Amino acid sequence: MEKNCVFCKIIAGEIPATKVYEDDKVLAFLDIAPFNYGHTLVIPKIHCHCFTEIPPDTLAAMMAAAQKLAVAVMRATGAPAYNLLMNNGQVAGQEVPHAHLHIIPRLVDDTVSFSAPQKRYDGEALTELAAKIQERLAKNAN
Ligand code: 5GP
Ligand code: ZN
Repeated sequence: MEKNCVFCKIIAGEIPATKVYEDDKVLAFLDIAPFNYGHTLVIPKIHCHCFTEIPPDTLAAMMAAAQKLAVAVMRATGAPAYNLLMNNGQVAGQEVPHAHLHIIPRLVDDTVSFSAPQKRYDGEALTELAAKIQERLAKNAN
């Protein structure tokens, strides 16, 4: 439990939330300011700042819950589709510093948009960057 963390306070029952799922590692509740109705947040019960800080067993539990929740949210709202979104770090738009996975039901012609201009790689930049990432992965494995 992190002092001043709004999601830790929800886990502790100190502030209310409309819960839709709970187990020993995971809590899910409706987002208070949804992109679409049914917008759900799935969070680890231990305070982790972002995706890369979540212990693997907790992350696995979050993903298993999210898979069931995505189906339930779609059925409950009649949405034909959904986005999974996770903002990690302030620069990426993370406002609440407790890791959370958004499940956002999507409707035909809704107001939600995640579009941005797409770049292209010049010359060897694509393969060079892939090699660099693979090098980093190999270092982490040891
Ligand atoms: P972020 O931008 O950090 O990825 O998303 C944070 C989300 O948490 C936002 O969609 C916001 O509406 C939601 N949120 C922030 N505070 C509360 C709260 O106290 N209760 C609930 N249910 N959702 C919250
Ligand atoms: Zn927290």
